[in-house]
Amino acid sequence: MKPVGGRVHKKMATAAPDQLTDLFGPRSSIPVNTTTPSAIRGISRLKRINIPKKKPTNTKICSSVDMMEDISSTIKDNQEDNVYECPFCFEKLKAPYPEELEKAIKEVKEKQRAYKEEQKKAYETKVAKERAEGRIYIEPLILKDAISEEDKKMVCNIHKMELEMKPLAKEKGYPEAIEFEKVEMRINTFKEDLVDIIMGRTESDWLMEAKRTVEKIGLNKSRDTTELINHFQNALPGYYGMKGADVMIKTLSQLFLDKELSKKTCWPLKPIEYIQRVLVPECGLRLIEQDMKVNKKEAKKIMKESIEYGKKYSL
Ligand SMILES: [Zn+2]
Repeated sequence: MKPVGGRVHKKMATAAPDQLTDLFGPRSSIPVNTTTPSAIRGISRLKRINIPKKKPTNTKICSSVDMMEDISSTIKDNQEDNVYECPFCFEKLKAPYPEELEKAIKEVKEKQRAYKEEQKKAYETKVAKERAEGRIYIEPLILKDAISEEDKKMVCNIHKMELEMKPLAKEKGYPEAIEFEKVEMRINTFKEDLVDIIMGRTESDWLMEAKRTVEKIGLNKSRDTTELINHFQNALPGYYGMKGADVMIKTLSQLFLDKELSKKTCWPLKPIEYIQRVLVPECGLRLIEQDMKVNKKEAKKIMKESIEYGKKYSL
């Protein structure tokens, strides 16, 4: 076998001390004949550049696979058994977990384990091949993140739902699960109420508010970015959140656009603005009234105070 030549020594002179293990690979596999003059030259050169001696930690030969084990155990040590760090928002979650969350964590951990195993096997094959080819420098294994973005978000959504939203819903009496697929059908049951608002036969607080804003600041200013954010915020249908608003907008557009909602009936708003700013909150109000079995005044209060909840719930 060929002894390690000057090429390696040159590399060594520029390498940081902690890179030396990598440069040489496992000691057992280096084909060095210590009696050759080049090896002796190498040793004397090592002394000259004054590389600190490696501390004799243990007698075990440090291989790349051992390094990999170290990385794996470090990862493991960071996850205490009764605390799980959300991979998305990094919140530390303490066990015991609700059933759904327990299931999600278990699923993700299992995927992580399998993926690590896969990487480890691929690395071992690669190392064996490179050693057989006589490669001296073998790249250390860097474990890739084993959780997909999708899974990270899934765990985060579940812990927020199970540990924050559901208890809050219970405390406030909001429905624990919203049947978004029934919203369209439910809107149809009070469609006539909405027609009365559009035709001006029933007053709407949200329409009056919109008209007041236009009168006060003018039509153009009422459409600038800050105002649009305000309108959006004020018109959110409480715990139905953005997802609920989305279903409502779709249903209301199908029901009224190009029909009852004309330029004239909507003035000073545009038909789509009218849906977003007047009809969506009117729908939210009626749905909440039905869910919570309260009157309109009470429903309006609940709708306002559950906006933040709705934003998180329906993400
Ligand atoms: Zn999270």
